[in-house]
Amino acid sequence: MAKKSNPTKELREKLFLQRKNCYFRMDKEEIKASTKFADKYKKFLDSAKTEREAVNEAVKLLEEKGFKEYKKGAKLKAGDKIYRNNRGKAIIMAVIGSAPISEGVRLCAAHIDSPRLDLKQNPLYEDSELALFKTHYYGGIKKYQWTTIPLALHGVIVKADGSKIDFRIGEDEKDPVFCVTDLLPHLATEQMSRPAGKLIKGEDLNLLIGSIPFRDDETSGAVKLGILNILFEKYGITEADFISSELEAVPAFKARDIGFDRSLIGGYGHDDRCCSFPALMATLDCENPVHTAVTVLTDKEETGSDGNTGLCSSYLEYFIYDIAEELGSNGRDVLSASECLSADVNAAFDPTFPEVNERNNCAYVNKGVCITKYTGARGKSGTSDASAEFAGRIRRLMDSQDVIWQTGELGKVDMGGGGTVAAYIANLNVDTIDMGVPVLSMHAPYEIISKTDLYMAYKAFAVFIAD
Ligand code: MN
Ligand code: MN
Repeated sequence: MAKKSNPTKELREKLFLQRKNCYFRMDKEEIKASTKFADKYKKFLDSAKTEREAVNEAVKLLEEKGFKEYKKGAKLKAGDKIYRNNRGKAIIMAVIGSAPISEGVRLCAAHIDSPRLDLKQNPLYEDSELALFKTHYYGGIKKYQWTTIPLALHGVIVKADGSKIDFRIGEDEKDPVFCVTDLLPHLATEQMSRPAGKLIKGEDLNLLIGSIPFRDDETSGAVKLGILNILFEKYGITEADFISSELEAVPAFKARDIGFDRSLIGGYGHDDRCCSFPALMATLDCENPVHTAVTVLTDKEETGSDGNTGLCSSYLEYFIYDIAEELGSNGRDVLSASECLSADVNAAFDPTFPEVNERNNCAYVNKGVCITKYTGARGKSGTSDASAEFAGRIRRLMDSQDVIWQTGELGKVDMGGGGTVAAYIANLNVDTIDMGVPVLSMHAPYEIISKTDLYMAYKAFAVFIAD
């Protein structure tokens, strides 16, 4: 029997903006593929908790796929796969296209740094026979969230003789972990009366690291000496070596499925690994593109993109200039003809906190990768605001390849706001738009995303760089 036609429903479907759940729009095969992709992603999350580890993982995967480290002046031809490692903390990778480089590159830009607690440069002290590390938080955090959770220490220490030690303690089941303490509720009357931003102050984020005094020494500082003795025996380091170290305290938990239906992933550092991993995978899978595909995984986004590993520095520009020259064009023309997806997360609508979002213009879990035309705060301050023409081009491209996407901005007008690296790339005269995965509890030690949105981000970046 033929289906009864319903003209109102048909007209609604034709005229209304569709915002259907991915699970109503993906077939069984694609849902399976998204689950498989999520499994690989969870492994990446566990092995790449810092920018340095993310670069190491990326280099490993790139070399397996035949990418070669690129030095200025080396010959290049279509199909070549290259990368440039920026100080072990940021990386650019490219697959050379068949079209003239003067037609521009397809750029994906994501960041691999995440909010965390950095150790201060003179971190170790003893108080009341407990040994602690002073920290300085990195990025925008709610400080109270970083107490009473297991933390691991990752990073590097450069010793007086110049040798470097890689540090990763708290990830193996047998490793110890570290912890920032908080006050018991019984004695927290004064603390609990403070505004939440002052519940835990910056100087309260002290990491507990030990309590045994050095042998039978009863003088003050014996616990500190005990810790330094362990560190010296194990790593050959002295207290002065912390001055030339970068040690980051990050949540020690592993990424895992959330929910009875296992549709979500909980983990540390989804912002922005849930975009940098799909962008990396899309680039690894990219063979013989028409336009040169360039993906940059950058550092320092969470502190404003300054410094020589952040995207306000010239390292991306220099790379484009180098390959442009080699391929018979110039950096200025190449950048001016280029397009960029600024691959960063957006805030997912949280039904527990609906008041911060405007429901027609925010991202939802399981509704696909989110396209954000502009970011910024107040009157779009600090935004790059993609043109309607470029938004239209990206929308057409996504629709033509069945990428499920939604549109959303970060919260209600005047509620707050935030930015991404989009503005810094757009400032190079590149057409740029923000695109990324919606995240629940963003910047918390344990963030949540959905598997379908993650997979759609991968699809979106793959489609973009292949176009
Ligand atoms: Mn981000
Ligand atoms: Mn962030």
